[in-house]
Parts: sequence; C-alpha cells; structure tokens
Amino acid sequence: MARQRAEYLLIGGFASGYCASELRKRGADGSILLVGREQDPPYERPPLSKEYLRGEAKREDAYVNPVSWYEENGVELRTGTNVMSLDVEGRTVKLQSGEEVEFEKALIATGANVNILRVDGATLDRIHYLRAFGNSDNIRADAESADRVVLVGGSYIACEVAASLKSKGTDCTLVMMEDVALSRTFGDQAGRWFQELLESKGIEFHGGQTLATFEGDDHASAVVTDSGETIEGDMVVVGAGVRPDVMVAQRAGLEIDEDDGGIRCDETLQSSVEGIYAAGDVCSYESRVHGRRLRVEHWDVAMQQGQHAARSMIGEAQPYEAVPYFFSDLADWASLEYVGPATDWDEEIWRGDPDAGEFAVFYLKDGKVAGALTVERSEDLGHARSLLAEGVDVSGDEAKALLGDPDSDLGELTI
Ligand SMILES: Cc1cc2nc3c(=O)[nH]c(=O)nc-3n(C[C@H](O)[C@H](O)[C@H](O)COP(=O)(O)OP(=O)(O)OC[C@H]3O[C@@H](n4cnc5c(N)ncnc54)[C@H](O)[C@@H]3O)c2cc1C
Repeated sequence: MARQRAEYLLIGGFASGYCASELRKRGADGSILLVGREQDPPYERPPLSKEYLRGEAKREDAYVNPVSWYEENGVELRTGTNVMSLDVEGRTVKLQSGEEVEFEKALIATGANVNILRVDGATLDRIHYLRAFGNSDNIRADAESADRVVLVGGSYIACEVAASLKSKGTDCTLVMMEDVALSRTFGDQAGRWFQELLESKGIEFHGGQTLATFEGDDHASAVVTDSGETIEGDMVVVGAGVRPDVMVAQRAGLEIDEDDGGIRCDETLQSSVEGIYAAGDVCSYESRVHGRRLRVEHWDVAMQQGQHAARSMIGEAQPYEAVPYFFSDLADWASLEYVGPATDWDEEIWRGDPDAGEFAVFYLKDGKVAGALTVERSEDLGHARSLLAEGVDVSGDEAKALLGDPDSDLGELTI
C-alpha cells in the first residue's frame, strides 16, 4: 500500500481544526493532513446541548472552518477515518484503510469519550448520551414525542439539556448524586442559585441519588435510584462525565498521567516524544500559572491549545499560560462564565446582586483567587483572570472589601 507523507499530521477534530488554521496563518507551508473519526469536518460541541439541540442553529454553524477552507488552504481533510496506531520511532501512523502516513510533527487531539453507566437496563432504547451531532439529533427526535425526560447527572450537560428541552415545552426531571446541581464546580451557594432558577422554570430535581437501574419494556421509561425512588419519564439523557480518549497515545507508548488520565505534556504542550504534541481534552500539561499539572475539558482551552501547539510545531514554542475559561448557557435564562479551575477553596466572596441575576463569585484559596464565576458580569472576569494569573494576594480586609463591592474598580488590585 502506498505511503503518504505529511509534514504536519493532526489527529482529532475541534482542536485540530484550530491547529490547522493557525499553521497556515503563521505561514507554515508544509503539507497538513487532518484525520478525524467523525463524518463532519472539525466542529465545536457547545451548540449540541444548546442552540443546535433546540433546532435554532444549523450543523454548519458549528464548523471550525467552512468545508471549502481546507481545500483552499491546502489542508487534506480525511473525515470518517480512524487512526489505528502510531509508531513513534518510525514516525508513522496507520489508518483504518491500512494506509500508512509518515509525518514530521503530529498533534494528538482525540478528545474524550462519555462515561457509560453500565447498570441493569443499560441496553434499553431511548437512553441517550451526548457527545456528537448524531446524539443531539437523536435526543431532539425522541424528545419531540416525549412528555417527560429524565436527566441523570448534576453537571452542566444535564442542566443545559434540561434547560433546552424545557424551553421547548418538554418536562424534565433531573436525578443527581450531588445534593445541589452544579455544586461540584461552583459550590453549594452558587449551585443553589442555578438550581432555583431551573426549578422556577418547572424543572424538577432529585438530589443525593445514585442511579441503580434503568427500567422499561423495550425503551427506558423510568430510572430507579439506590434509595428505591422511581422517577418516570419517556426517555433518559445521561451526563455522567467523560474520560480522555488516549487509546492511540497509550498504545504508542506516550506517557499518560496517572491522576488525570491525559497525555503528559510539558509546558509547551509537547508530549513525552519530541515533535508530538497534545491539545484539548486529552492534554495534561504543566501549568506555570497554577503551579501544577492541569487537564480541563473546556471549549476555549481546546481551541487555544490547538493554536498553541501549531506555534510549538513551527519552532515558536512558549509555555502555555492561558487561564482556563469556561462558559455555559441555560437556555436563554442565564449565561455563566468561569475562570479557574479552583479544585478547592476556603472562602467565597460574592459581588453584585444574585436576586437581580447579576453577580460574581470569587473563590479564594490561601488568600489568592483560585477561580471566579460570573453571571451577567463579564467585566469582572478579566480582572479575575489577571488576579489568578498574577497570584495577587487578596487576603487583606481592604482587598476583600474591593472584591465584594459591586461598584469598585477591580483594576486597583492588579496595579
Ligand atoms: C454537548 C457538549 C456541550 C459542551 N458545552 C461546552 C460549553 O458550553 N463550554 C465549554 O467550555 N465546553 C463545552 N463542552 C466541552 C468542549 O466541547 C470540549 O472541551 C471540546 O470539544 C474538546 O475539544 P477536543 O478537540 O479536545 O476534542 P473533541 O471535540 O472531542 O474532538 C476530538 C475528535 O477526535 C476524534 N478521534 C478520537 N480518536 C481518534 C482516532 N484514533 N482517529 C481519528 N479521530 C479520532 C473524535 O472522534 C473527535 O471527533 C461541551 C461538550 C459537549 C459534548
């Protein structure tokens, strides 16, 4: 079988799409081959639980680049194609067609796979997980004939899907291990604010419940929790987190981080093998800003790391120092933004007016900002980012008073 050669081999979708654009933007004129398992060209996933799920946006709206861009920019796009193996010594990959591709530099941005709940009844029809366009299409199609949807999970996927479906008129019940929705990331108080908002729109919550079984004849019509509670619905959507997809990297012998399960990279996003980089959900990198290893599953980070890896590939390697940013929309009822991530904190400082739907929360750890959440106060987020990146000491009473005063100029803290 013929052997193809690519100067830059990009494996994946979303982050790889951004890597390809950045390579061309920066004047790299070597051959680029982008290989992705899905049928669509690289696309962003946030709309799948939001406007695309609600039928308010087209598939193409989510594409990283228009389909024509790849040909116009000399990027060979192989969709619907799996990379089966990677030989780091020989610097080749094998595609599912049996073809071998030689490369000089490679990006592994293989994303993540959803956690499947393997309990009794798991093979029943109408149990949905959400990662790709097809999942979103299937949820929308089944929800059209459903009176009530049961969502399993207390994080942003379940909350966003419930908000989207309820805003279109379908009743939703959310079952979660957490006592309060979204509390793992934002704490109990902020989580309660979001949960109460969703409850005020008619979404029901069952907190502190672990799924025991799915029940139904041919399709799921209820979930049963381990406390014996039965929650009925016409279909189920599960949002139980994801695991980085490191299959190709692991088999190739790249170092995998034991704690976060990602591909171990240095500060510049280079893996344990020279010339092979990682970006996005699979990338575990040494973060100078946080002083620790970090792997996050955020849209913005995948985009920026794809671009950053491109610069590393063309010899402009720099430490990746962006503060991770995340956003989420609950229908058009609330939009949140977040920088961090704060894994734990010893104090929260609230700013603004939660009752009026505009506030910020600063999460402090050892007297420094470890994370910040904003709702309708984007202007605070930039300041929070600087405070976090610069490690500004905000332990004093004056600094805390500034953080808590909605009319203060937070710029004063970083001068
Ligand atoms: C429904 C949903 C909503 C989201 N909403 C938000 C949000 O509001 N805000 C936010 O910040 N983040 C959000 N995210 C997370 C964000 O979308 C991800 O962090 C981002 O997509 C990660 O990009 P990536 O390029 O690392 O991986 P992906 O987008 O998963 O792309 C990886 C691609 O690699 C392919 N692949 C894997 N293995 C191989 C192989 N061997 N050969 C070829 N191809 C392979 C996969 O099939 C996949 O297409 C959301 C995610 C989902 C699922």
